[in-house]
Amino acid sequence: MAGNLRLETACKAGALAGRLSIALGRGRGETLSGRVILALDSKAISKLSSDRDILLVSGTNGKTTSTKNLATILREFAGEGVSTSESGANMPAGIAALLAQNPRNRFAVIECDEMYVPEMYRKLSPKVVVLLNLSRDQLHRTGEVRKVAALWHETFIKDDVTIVIDRDDPFLEYAVTNAGHVMRVSFSGRRHPDAATCPNCAAILDWSKGDYLCPCGLGSLFPDIRADKRLNGPQRNTVLVVEAARLMGAEISVTEADDLISSAPDRIHDFLVSGKKVPTHLAKNPESWRQALGDVTADQVLLSVNARGIDGRDTSWLWDIDYSNLIGKKVICTGERQLDIAYRLRVQGVEVSTASNFSQAVQSFPSGPIQAIVSYTAFQDLLATELGINKSGSQ
Ligand SMILES: [Zn+2]
Repeated sequence: MAGNLRLETACKAGALAGRLSIALGRGRGETLSGRVILALDSKAISKLSSDRDILLVSGTNGKTTSTKNLATILREFAGEGVSTSESGANMPAGIAALLAQNPRNRFAVIECDEMYVPEMYRKLSPKVVVLLNLSRDQLHRTGEVRKVAALWHETFIKDDVTIVIDRDDPFLEYAVTNAGHVMRVSFSGRRHPDAATCPNCAAILDWSKGDYLCPCGLGSLFPDIRADKRLNGPQRNTVLVVEAARLMGAEISVTEADDLISSAPDRIHDFLVSGKKVPTHLAKNPESWRQALGDVTADQVLLSVNARGIDGRDTSWLWDIDYSNLIGKKVICTGERQLDIAYRLRVQGVEVSTASNFSQAVQSFPSGPIQAIVSYTAFQDLLATELGINKSGSQ
């Protein structure tokens, strides 16, 4: 009883702090609200998640969209309330706030930052975990991909939780080696760009047959589900999300899910700049750049790289990406680190020029379609300009 009173007080104080934060124009209030809740009751996350069906979503790319999609599917089929974060908050404070908001909702679909998966797995006791993918991220964010895989390997120990994974990803297979129940979805094998060597023993992986195999025994296991090999990253994530929803009783196919969920990821937006429509991808690590580059069909391409705050100062990850499909196109680089990306492209034989800002780059192109790929803060700057928020920072 004393514990419940503490929780109740913590949640009321958290809600008040959240409202104050919004009223003072300090953002959506989730993080502050969650911090207050956890300061007053350190066990709030465990308490708020008990007696509820929790689904946890993590991975390097597509967490926010996949979480939103899974919540949408469950809302449609469960006929009951589903809690989730609308803003992509994926650390303990944000998670505490979203759980406190509607404590009677049976379902909660929770996005989790890779490094917090062990803690949240322990505290939330999820029914289902969806591990979308693991690939190299920027070093300031989660460190080496092997570090995350090893952390997860220690986390998923035999129990009743079902873990849904892309079975073609050796890092995920290593992460769930000791797990009790794993649902493996295969997209018919594809070489993982960061997995030349085994996540378990560091021996060279044999990828010669499309699947992978290591002398230590780590290899592609027989899949529970075989999906279309032609799917791209976001589409693969949708298949995994649908399988997770089906585990919770939602009778839905991937085709039906496509009608229900947003097909366009949040990280693609058409900006109107200097009178021209510029479809723009937000890309923040090697894999999301690969996906964005795969979608480039225009002959005029604008790339903007910053190294500010959430972007991280270390741009060495730009060298992990193959830019060969930009060869022969007109490419303009801008942003604070325009020289970093321009030099990388020149090494690969891509002809590039630079511009002092996004708008000037757009104006430098002759008529015809333009596509852009931009880093996190560059995307934020473009959104702020669109919303009429005056920002002095360059794009
Ligand atoms: Zn091995």
